Amino acid sequence: MLLTAHELERYRRHIILPELGHEGQLKLKQASVLIIGTGGLGSPVAMYLAASGVGHIGLVDFDVVDLSNLQRQIIHRTSFVGQQKTWSASEALREINPHVRLSVFDHPLNRNNALEIIQQFDIICDGTDNFATRYLINDACVLAGKFNVFGSIRQFEGQVSVFGSPDGPCYRCLFPEPPEPGTVPSCAEAGVLGVLPGVIGTLQATEVIKQITGIGAPLVGRLLKYDALAMHFGEVKFRKDPDCACCGDSPSITELVDYEAFCGAQQQWGHAEEVSAAELLQLISDSTNQLTLIDVRAPFELLEGEIEGAINIPMDDIPDRMNDIPKEGPVVVFCHLGMRSRHVINFLKKEGFSNLINLTGGIAAWQALTDNP
Ligand code: ZN
Repeated sequence: MLLTAHELERYRRHIILPELGHEGQLKLKQASVLIIGTGGLGSPVAMYLAASGVGHIGLVDFDVVDLSNLQRQIIHRTSFVGQQKTWSASEALREINPHVRLSVFDHPLNRNNALEIIQQFDIICDGTDNFATRYLINDACVLAGKFNVFGSIRQFEGQVSVFGSPDGPCYRCLFPEPPEPGTVPSCAEAGVLGVLPGVIGTLQATEVIKQITGIGAPLVGRLLKYDALAMHFGEVKFRKDPDCACCGDSPSITELVDYEAFCGAQQQWGHAEEVSAAELLQLISDSTNQLTLIDVRAPFELLEGEIEGAINIPMDDIPDRMNDIPKEGPVVVFCHLGMRSRHVINFLKKEGFSNLINLTGGIAAWQALTDNP
């Protein structure tokens, strides 16, 4: 593989760097990077890696672009609100650099598909925002022997590190156990400064480029911490833990496990009042969840579309058919827009049900998510 005259011109500022040079640019062209999440972190990672000439980029995201994303997810445009994020991101990356080959995975990463997807790429970039997926990515990268360039953000602070190198530690060496469910609020709950993922994601992209080209000192065994308010960078050194359940001397994790249960997310969902359409898709895609779906619309409304596997109990029939609704395991109740189902849940709670979850936005939100091109 060679660089074309056009590429030599495009990457001139790279090629004149003695440390990188023609050889480094060729390594970038031959490299493949999987970016998990095309949100706040995935945006700068994908845009800079595409601009830098990484030959093959994979994008994993199952969500659609929301208006509230645009404050920080700079790969997405206002005109793409409501579109699949992987599609929106691909459009932007093709415009930045048409030489990049793109692979798109627009379904949630889970224990059934993670290894197969990760094995197709040289380096993995974690741009996700929940603990279950973070542990899933870590374990899959250790099992597959892949570098995992990790970033996380919340409010005004961020962290970066590189896991999965042959002699270096993994995420579990640093955090063997996930935090108690509900103790660490997500960005959606706690907020995040819009430029923060720009800083952290750009640091992740830097580590990817260094790793591919073999230059500099990698951020292995070091957790870089950034505080935007104090404008301060700090570093915590940590070692590979010989007792680590994943990368230790006698690991107990030899295959991917149930990460929702490990992180308590399943229990959390079990007590949640509401799920978004995207969260429901994640719940359904993980086959370990014994999920029941109850559609409370009138029969004539079913012509407008259904969610596969849902049981139709029209709202008016609920008092007579309560025995058809399980009292254990998560039960997601939905209608057209999420109002009637909320009334049904309020009614059933008085009848002793404590496992009911409302689908926010109803089947309309579900169809907006799943019917996208
Ligand atoms: Zn470890």
